[in-house]
Amino acid sequence: MAYSLWYISLMKKQRGAAIFLCLCAILFLSACNESESGETAKHPPLSMTRDDLLGTVVTLTAYGDADEAALESAFRVIEDIDARMSANAESSEIFLLNRQSDGAKEDGFAVSRDIYDLTKRAAEISGLSAGAFDPALGGVTELWKANGEFASLPSEEEILSRIDAAHFQNILFLPGSRIAFAEPGVKLDLGGIAKGYACDKAVASLAKDGAKSALLDLGGNIYALGKKPGGSDWKVGIAVPYAGESGVACSIPVTDRAVVTSGGYQRFFEKDGQTYHHILDPATGYPAESDLLSATVIGRSSADADGFSTACFVLGRENGMALIESVPGYEAILIAKDERVYATPGIAGQIEILDERFRLEET
Ligand code: AMP
Ligand code: MG
Repeated sequence: MAYSLWYISLMKKQRGAAIFLCLCAILFLSACNESESGETAKHPPLSMTRDDLLGTVVTLTAYGDADEAALESAFRVIEDIDARMSANAESSEIFLLNRQSDGAKEDGFAVSRDIYDLTKRAAEISGLSAGAFDPALGGVTELWKANGEFASLPSEEEILSRIDAAHFQNILFLPGSRIAFAEPGVKLDLGGIAKGYACDKAVASLAKDGAKSALLDLGGNIYALGKKPGGSDWKVGIAVPYAGESGVACSIPVTDRAVVTSGGYQRFFEKDGQTYHHILDPATGYPAESDLLSATVIGRSSADADGFSTACFVLGRENGMALIESVPGYEAILIAKDERVYATPGIAGQIEILDERFRLEET
């Protein structure tokens, strides 16, 4: 089968000299036959890209059935979520909630219903992943940031002073969309799940506006809506998980599914010859020492796939695989440091290896 590299997911934005360029996780591939080329000609893609949302590059592409106004509405949905959920933007709800967290009010703080629900889901994913994914890690993740980017090495004392409070069980969900913290110093960071959530909402917006065939790329969080014009599955590629490389390790066919990858190669900085990536182990407050290069999760909800992919990276191959096998409707593709590719049984047979350094392990 001949593959044409049809769309390349764009690089995350580089902001500041200390941040290395990182490649997004996922590439779209298209294997076109003649009748599909004809269908694509009948439904020319309509595509829009913005680089000022969610700290990354967002591209939405629709094939027929959805017009420019539909894409603009979907972007407005993402813009709204970004404005309210970013931990960095000083006017965001999360920022304001975190600023008040030291005062730990008993009756909590009122937040938007969707922030309440998403934080609750994030806490559930924490429980399912034995705390490997933890939205209460905000007090620690902020120590690693400079100007909103993962770029600063905190002292051990700083990490130790915050790690104990950074636990999802310290987030209390009160009636009336109110969130309280059980201890002072707890802060939320929805960075491991908000892009997926924004993706789900953008998919819903496009579908409401008539889109039947569309691709969404939120900085490597991919959603394939419907089938390709012509009726076949989309082909989504999983990037070679090495910084500075732009190749595709393997691909899978996808319809109506989110494909989300987490990896240490995506965002990192170097200091004194040491590399520090952006996915922290909640047990230590330091970058997770994973045996994986990347963890990809595929499923209906991009928010869940986002949370689970971060969790899998922290958990590593064995526990990550066990986690996804326990979640109905979700599949995982884990690329280990030894370049072996491990997959849940539901997807293993559909994987096509495209870079021969990577070998699919029989399950
Ligand atoms: P992702 O790229 O989806 O894997 O999420 C990574 C982002 O989520 C980081 O930039 C942090 O803001 C936040 N984060 C880091 N480690 C964790 C963790 N163990 N659990 C939840 N969020 C995390
Ligand atoms: Mg994530």
